[in-house]
Amino acid sequence: MSISKILKRILNFLTFTDIPIWQKLLLFAIGGIVWFIIIAVIGLGAVTYVNDSSKALTNEVVPQILASQKVIIKIRGANVSVYNIAMHDDINIVNNHVQRANILFNDVSVILNALLKGGLVKDYSDLTGDLIEEFQVLPVKEGSRSERYVKETLAKNQNIRKILNELVLIKKARLKEGGGTAKNKALFMNKLKEYDALTVQAVTILGKLTSWISVLQKSHTIRIQRVLKQSMAMFIFVGILAVILLTVFSYLLKISITRPLKAITEQIKILSEGEVDLTKQITIGSQDEIADLSANFNMLMQTIYDMNTFKKVIEEDDDLTDVYVRLAKVFNEGLGLDDISIYEATNRNKSMQILTTPYTKDDIYCNREIFIDNSLCRARKTGRRVSSIEYSEICKQFLFASDKYHVCVPMIVGASIGGVVQFRFDKTIDKQKQEEITILDNTCIERLVLKAEQYIAESSAVIEAKRLTSALKESSVRDPMTGLYNRRFLEEYVETLIARVARKEGVIGLLMCDLDFFKQVNDKFGHDAGDIVLIETAKVIAANARAADLTIRFGGEEFLVIVSDAKEGEAGVVAERIRKMIEELKVKTSGGIIQKTISVGYSEFPKDTHNFWEAIKYADIALYKAKESGRNRCIRFEKEMWNKEAY
Ligand code: GH3
Ligand code: MG
Ligand code: MG
Repeated sequence: MSISKILKRILNFLTFTDIPIWQKLLLFAIGGIVWFIIIAVIGLGAVTYVNDSSKALTNEVVPQILASQKVIIKIRGANVSVYNIAMHDDINIVNNHVQRANILFNDVSVILNALLKGGLVKDYSDLTGDLIEEFQVLPVKEGSRSERYVKETLAKNQNIRKILNELVLIKKARLKEGGGTAKNKALFMNKLKEYDALTVQAVTILGKLTSWISVLQKSHTIRIQRVLKQSMAMFIFVGILAVILLTVFSYLLKISITRPLKAITEQIKILSEGEVDLTKQITIGSQDEIADLSANFNMLMQTIYDMNTFKKVIEEDDDLTDVYVRLAKVFNEGLGLDDISIYEATNRNKSMQILTTPYTKDDIYCNREIFIDNSLCRARKTGRRVSSIEYSEICKQFLFASDKYHVCVPMIVGASIGGVVQFRFDKTIDKQKQEEITILDNTCIERLVLKAEQYIAESSAVIEAKRLTSALKESSVRDPMTGLYNRRFLEEYVETLIARVARKEGVIGLLMCDLDFFKQVNDKFGHDAGDIVLIETAKVIAANARAADLTIRFGGEEFLVIVSDAKEGEAGVVAERIRKMIEELKVKTSGGIIQKTISVGYSEFPKDTHNFWEAIKYADIALYKAKESGRNRCIRFEKEMWNKEAY
């Protein structure tokens, strides 16, 4: 397979060219759904990501920042109490502040633990004890920088509380002693410095923690924005791609369906205008239902075209035989039906005759009686197709039923059955297989016979017209009484005759025959008896001329015999034979037996003259000579007769 062929295959596959229409539509729908799903997945993914991220922000980052800020506030609050402890010497005030500082530092460690392990943070007012705020804190990530900061703060917090305890002990010792010593004061100040340093460190770490969490928050937001941007771009890209692809495929789908349909519509339009244009056959580019439709349509066009041409051709045929030959040729070469006979039926004498064409068989397959009485032929009688495939031994007249099937199709000409075409098919199929194959063959034979019937139907009008004209012609060129050709026929036929003589370089004898004293018959026996004598005379003359010769009733009791392809002296022989037979002829009439003689004058064309009508005249001159010289004789024309007599 060549590359272009492979490419075409791939293209056909991609454009659904070679699959049934319902599959095309299904694939198209599936394609649309797939694109829809892709777009939906992108959208859903983006939304889910954004949702998750923002949830993480509100549930994780924000409470963590809040918690660490609360810790700072609480440490600052504790600082105030510590300074109050340092400033006041009233034991009650000192104790109150010690208690408050401890509560605050306790809160600090609770919140820090919540940051470390997760948990609910409840913030109470250290003044009124009311619940200010309550929120859930998620633990900072294990091993993260945040965790390290929280742990460091926790450690600092522990140290701070230890130092606070020491501060309180020093303070209380001083209050017990009253006034306190310088040593005690210095110790207190040192511890206070230490405490300060620690709280500053703790707050610094917490500051770092919040700023770090803020950084995390920022990166979260950035990531959300990035994902939103990316999914938007993907959304647009996939959307555009889907629209382009769906547009392209719907266009291809549209073309693959509408193009052949358009072509068919176009052809139907042309057909309806009475034309068949085979150059506009529909090109078949696919392998779907439309391709089937196109192929069938092309076949239909071909059939119509064939029928049309066939009809035109037979209309132009001169002869009825030509029509039959052409019909047989179509069966043979067009349809492959080669075992056929054509029978022509006549209404007049109910006979039937087999036609001879180069494409039909002359062998007789039917009982010969059908040729005498054509009503014995089933197809002729019923005017319907007679098939032994459909119904075995349907017609008794078919003599080869054991070897062959026959399908006889009547030719309806005018209102009657003008003939029968017999198609025969060999019964060569094995007995066992017969049944299945016959069914198979049947459809094939059925199709062929149907087509043959179409041709027969198409030709029927032409056959009718040709039969009619030939019948009309016969009646105008024949003498109804004797059945012989008349003078008019000779006038029409003479050109053909001359052409044939010229072609063959032969000679024809022209015999002019005239009954002797015929007038007497009419006078003596009456006109009817005269007619009978004329009819009998005509029969004798025609019978004594050869089959190829023509006998013409030239005038009242004058007959012209045209002896074709005559050899030297043959005209004289025929003339003499006619004369003799008439002499012996006894015609029975109601008035008695009549016996007459005949005189014959003859000439030869083109031996005597190249003018045909002149040659006839010469024969007439010779006839005159025969009459003159005593009648009942045959005389050949001689040149002298023409010279002597002045016609
Ligand atoms: P001849 O020997 O000189 O030919 O004598 P004839 O009497 O035969 O010749 P003629 O030409 O004088 O007579 C021909 C007659 O044939 C005249 C006509 O009445 C008769 N005839 C011509 N046609 C018919 C026909 O169709 N039927 C009958 N019964 N007679 C016819
Ligand atoms: Mg005459
Ligand atoms: Mg006569």
